[in-house]
Amino acid sequence: MEKKRVLSAIQPTGDLHYGNYFGAISNWVKLQEKYECTYGVVDYHAMTMPYVPKKLRENTWDIVFSLLAVGVKAENLFIQSLVPEHAELSWIFNCFCSYGQLLRMTQFKDKSAKAAETDFISAGLLDYPVLQAADILIYRADYVPVGQDQKQHLELTRDIAQRFNKVVGKEYFVLPEILYTETPKILSTADPSRKMSKSAGEKHYISVFAEEARIRKQIRSAVTDMGEQPSGKMSPGVRNLFELLRAAGDPQGLYEELKSEYESGALRYVQLKDAVADALVALSKVFRECKAELLENKKEVKGAIKASSAEIRKRAQQTVREVKELAGLLNVKC
Ligand code: ADP
Repeated sequence: MEKKRVLSAIQPTGDLHYGNYFGAISNWVKLQEKYECTYGVVDYHAMTMPYVPKKLRENTWDIVFSLLAVGVKAENLFIQSLVPEHAELSWIFNCFCSYGQLLRMTQFKDKSAKAAETDFISAGLLDYPVLQAADILIYRADYVPVGQDQKQHLELTRDIAQRFNKVVGKEYFVLPEILYTETPKILSTADPSRKMSKSAGEKHYISVFAEEARIRKQIRSAVTDMGEQPSGKMSPGVRNLFELLRAAGDPQGLYEELKSEYESGALRYVQLKDAVADALVALSKVFRECKAELLENKKEVKGAIKASSAEIRKRAQQTVREVKELAGLLNVKC
């Protein structure tokens, strides 16, 4: 039987953080054993917000090394601008997507408010969920491992696939489904009312490659109680710390003990924070070592990613050929 296909991607907009890792990338790594996985570093997406061209390429390679360091296999990884068919399919999909639906995307609302601070909101920002639909459907993916923040975009992808199928009169695209991790939403430790995110600023994320002192400082200062909680309810900040501990594999086996101390009212938050910090420090140490090793072989690694991108591109080209045919466009050979 053919293996089911998995697709996911990440923007090269800075550090890889524990929200990305526990929310999505840890799944990327696991799923490689069971499915045909394709993972992208989507640099076209990183142009939708104000950006510095010189830094973009640097960030793209940096995130490639980061993904490899946490366990993504080189042969499954591609760089989006080396597969320009994504942009071509995105144009075609623009014509199968309603403008009103794009305006309703909550990420567009959030990000356009931020972009407005620079007096420039690009049309690309409005349109990027369509490019994301192309990223997913170009590989005919069955499953998409992402965090909860991407739910609305995946629904849009399914709508585009359905409209395309209807217009061309063929069930060409399967409708992809989301695969969540057990922690689909990691919160900022500095402000548990928002998700952990690099776009919100330095104190709102913890890098997976952070040094011990920084991790301990960030976890020590994590917000725990935020005013009155409805009785018996754990505050979001404390729940987030428990989730981080579980997601990090709870190496010292403290989760259950701390949980029952919390339930009996005897937990001192510093115990929980120390357990979380210890677990993250241990993980980050391994990740840092792996990345340093990869960086020693920069040239070979870059060559391998260019080769895998070229290989993956063949599948994208095949889909675009078929889509053009179905959509009434021309291919060179017809
Ligand atoms: P950011 O929000 O920091 O810019 P990206 O948009 O590049 O991160 O997200 C890359 C992947 O990580 C996506 O699959 C997204 O759903 C997931 N992700 C990002 N932040 C979180 C979070 N706080 N919790 C869970 N998953 C997350």
